[in-house]
Amino acid sequence: MKAILVYEPGGPEALTLADIPVPQPGPKEALVKIAAIGVNFIDIYFRSGLYKADLPISIGQEAAGTVEAVGAEVTGFAPGDRVAYAMARGSYAEYQSVPAAMLVKLPDTVPFESAAAAMLQGMTAHYLTHSTFPLKEGDTTLVHAAAGGTGLLIVQMAKMRGARVIGTTSTEDKAQLALAAGADEMILYTKQDFETESRRLTGGRGVDVVYDSVGASTFEKSLDCLRPRGMMVTFGNASGAVPATQPLALSQKGSLFLTRPTLMHYTLERKELLWRANDVLGWVGSGKLKVRVHQTYPLAEAAQAQIDLAGRGTSGKLLLKP
Ligand code: NDP
Repeated sequence: MKAILVYEPGGPEALTLADIPVPQPGPKEALVKIAAIGVNFIDIYFRSGLYKADLPISIGQEAAGTVEAVGAEVTGFAPGDRVAYAMARGSYAEYQSVPAAMLVKLPDTVPFESAAAAMLQGMTAHYLTHSTFPLKEGDTTLVHAAAGGTGLLIVQMAKMRGARVIGTTSTEDKAQLALAAGADEMILYTKQDFETESRRLTGGRGVDVVYDSVGASTFEKSLDCLRPRGMMVTFGNASGAVPATQPLALSQKGSLFLTRPTLMHYTLERKELLWRANDVLGWVGSGKLKVRVHQTYPLAEAAQAQIDLAGRGTSGKLLLKP
């Protein structure tokens, strides 16, 4: 089968289309014939070496497809089942053996493409808005990169929970997309000072929570957008990893809370994974949650997809097709 491997971390050219045997499912695994693959920033971190793994590194964390075979100890899944998964590395491929505990069955109403577009970023938006800082009516949130793949989903879920959403993005076109997704106000952080604007829009009070996937270039200033005892949720590094911070700064800026969460720790138990995935897929199936696919590429063009995602020109999800 064809699969993308990285023999030496580096630039996009490190993504190599290899011919390797179809994997055999282990006793607790299911072999999935992949129909659509989600592209995520984490794939870039493994390719570049920011995140470490044994060589050669299989790339990709998210896909949807059909179960072909199951290991001896697997219950609840059978060949022919339509499934999706996230956070199982090796999805840039035609087939993947995935722990059955990570699989979720797809409702008939959800096409493979929508599932591959929604699982990872959707469950991320879900845990951020429902668990890390459970938004409620009357809360105001600042969402960076609000027109990005994860950003558009956070905006929609924050609105479902009744919060007011102030978003940031780099261009007017992207701002229109975030507004269409439900954002109440947008700040063009490449032109406007987002601290000044957030303070102005909240009458000087500051926002209750910042969801920051941008990282290095937004972190410091985001702390200054919060109300006393507000929460800074730094969950990504699109502009680079956040540098070291002094706990004392959190006190000086208003007894702030700081967390650096990751999806893995919010789906540790099967029950929690199913809660998030079934909410997301259910909402996608009913049309309550809109997933915007920016572009779909052949698997062999994975490098171009990663270049485009890192190049800041995309809004919404990028997919690969095996
Ligand atoms: P996006 O679709 O949001 O793309 C990244 C966006 O970040 C860009 O479109 C751009 O939006 C903005 N950005 C700002 N500065 C830069 C820069 N210097 N280089 C590139 N982009 C920049 O990507 P994803 O939704 O896939 O992921 C966003 C982040 O969220 C990633 O860091 C990812 O690792 C993280 N993430 C974390 C998870 C977790 O559980 N912790 C799970 C999922 C994602 P604009 O043009 O509007 O500025």
